[in-house]
Amino acid sequence: MNVANWLHAAALSHPRNPALYRGTQLHADYDAFARRAAGLARWLRDAQGVAEGARVALFMKNRVEYLELFYACWWLGAVVVPVNPKLHPKEVDWILRDAGAHAVLTDTHEDLPPEAVPDGCLHLAVDGDAFPRAAQAGLDAPLPPPRVLPPDALAWLFYTSGTTGRPKGVMLSHRNLVAMALCYAADIETVSATDSMLYAAPISHGAGLYHFMYVRRAARHVVPASRGFDPLEILDHAREGGSLSLFAAPTMVKRLVEAARAAGRDGTGLHTVIYGGAPMYFADIDEALQVLGPRFAQIYGQGESPMTITALTRECIADTSHPRWRARMASVGPAQSCMAVRIVDADMNTLPVGMEGEVAARGDAVMAGYWGNEAATRATLVEGWLRTGDIGRLDEEGFLTLTDRSKDVIISGGSNIYPREVEEVLARHPGVREVAVVGAPSEAWGEEVVAFVVAREGATLDPADLDQWCRGEIAAFKRPKRYCLRDELPKNSYGKVPKTLLREALQAGKAG
Ligand code: AMP
Repeated sequence: MNVANWLHAAALSHPRNPALYRGTQLHADYDAFARRAAGLARWLRDAQGVAEGARVALFMKNRVEYLELFYACWWLGAVVVPVNPKLHPKEVDWILRDAGAHAVLTDTHEDLPPEAVPDGCLHLAVDGDAFPRAAQAGLDAPLPPPRVLPPDALAWLFYTSGTTGRPKGVMLSHRNLVAMALCYAADIETVSATDSMLYAAPISHGAGLYHFMYVRRAARHVVPASRGFDPLEILDHAREGGSLSLFAAPTMVKRLVEAARAAGRDGTGLHTVIYGGAPMYFADIDEALQVLGPRFAQIYGQGESPMTITALTRECIADTSHPRWRARMASVGPAQSCMAVRIVDADMNTLPVGMEGEVAARGDAVMAGYWGNEAATRATLVEGWLRTGDIGRLDEEGFLTLTDRSKDVIISGGSNIYPREVEEVLARHPGVREVAVVGAPSEAWGEEVVAFVVAREGATLDPADLDQWCRGEIAAFKRPKRYCLRDELPKNSYGKVPKTLLREALQAGKAG
């Protein structure tokens, strides 16, 4: 099993299908995509000494060559290590060392200072002379098949975003990636050759997992000219090209909806907007459906089981007349096709329907373990189940509702308060644009609830009014004791609000 076989097969059967677009410009059809990848594989192996199983790090923003490099590495049996391009050089150095990377590829040599590249690790540039020559050589040569690999061969070493401490390398095999892609076809959307996947979120993270089914179907891949997230550019691509899907974090969906509304645009040409990675508040998805139409699907996953724990299908999200629609929308859906989900207590006992506990997941997409970290692997993979660290409950329909990450729980006066619940209430307030709730140390209560709130454009927020609003919605002990009004909330490069930053601001007395 080698996931690069899918590109090889697509190139043989649909050589002239357009494959890679840089903005609106066609970069390669399937024949050229596969040949360039195979040419790069030969260059990496013969000129750079990359052997089967070697780790090759990719430290760059989105570009079509990112996808070529994925398949080049797999073609020769090497392992990709996508690294968030916004990381500090010291963090990059740490990952390259931890992964024992044989090489790191960047846009240019200036993108990483020499001290960020450990001894023995090659630093190669895409925008140099050698890279385009190697890709061109592939175009001029016969197309060899990808290397034959055992299904459990390592394909992807994914460093977790670090919201839970030091990044750990999640080991994903070819079997994991194939299972993940098959789930996508079964549970998210069927893909045909004229569909396009657009990469607006970082390919180094979740968005980089969306190409498999598109390659399998010889469909199109669009890397926007901006190389990032520009709402109007996305809407233009959808309108011009049609049948366009993309992954977007909930904060990106919100910006897409705001931009569409402001520009008087709708969702013409958008096929599926897949959201996930963080909670989507009901008020936001409700507005998204109104402005862009029934084109949304939700995925709940984590690096350790990428894209694959549960999903809410397009049909389910669009079915607004269903009596349980609201409850379903507050959930992340039922287990995906290749997965089983249960709610467990600290001893891994299964808890009954409706009871809150830790989400455990099992299936072919679950990682083999953490790279070089047996202790963390043992703590996370227990009796074949992945302990997600997320807290949730299953309902009688088998839908999972996440209440929080275990570490985010606020314990005030001995009561557990799940920030998500308080955030949901505040997000429904007509003057509130964004909200994040955290716990702050309190002499009297252990911790107290603090809400960071951003007003909608033109609205003025008054803490007394917000308090009154909460009084009408949730138990008194869950109400924020303090409101910090902000012009915006900090976001990490994946569009998530890093709550550690908010907690630190509170501890340093800088929350305002
Ligand atoms: P990461 O490994 O960085 O992708 O982060 C995964 C975490 O993001 C999960 O463990 C959840 O806490 C959160 N997450 C992912 N998808 C969703 C979702 N659809 N709704 C709410 N939280 C999510």
